[in-house]
Amino acid sequence: MNASRRHRSPASQTTDGSEPGPLDGQQITQTECRGCGTQIAGLNGRYACSMCGWANEWSEGHTSTPPRP
Ligand SMILES: [Zn+2]
Repeated sequence: MNASRRHRSPASQTTDGSEPGPLDGQQITQTECRGCGTQIAGLNGRYACSMCGWANEWSEGHTSTPPRP
């Protein structure tokens, strides 16, 4: 059952229901790597650290979880 809290944007189609940003709906955010503490940038809540290889879970991202193989 989907939560009904996501709102629709009438002007643009986004997968996560967020406001369309300068990158066509994609939002660049920053966080601190939980592996080594480096400040890293991510897209739509997804992060991958190039320093130590840490990456957060898909479920933490803003977009829906893709099907796993
Ligand atoms: Zn790291």
